[in-house]
Amino acid sequence: MKLLPDCRDMSSRLSEARDSGRALTLGERLHLLMCAWCRRFRVQLDVLGLAAARAPEGGPSLSAEAKARIRRALGA
Ligand SMILES: [Zn+2]
Repeated sequence: MKLLPDCRDMSSRLSEARDSGRALTLGERLHLLMCAWCRRFRVQLDVLGLAAARAPEGGPSLSAEAKARIRRALGA
């Protein structure tokens, strides 16, 4: 195992660590100190996580009126 993962490894490691709640390894933290791209990716993961947490249960839904309007437009 490499002490310092490359950026490709970091993207999957950061995602997995965020999902599992695992603490970052020393190598991962060192990589983040040196790599602005991976720091930015980590922030993006946090933003996506917050957005997903705020999403309504069962995902977004259209009103019955909107569904009927789309059905009419599609000729269904
Ligand atoms: Zn990187």
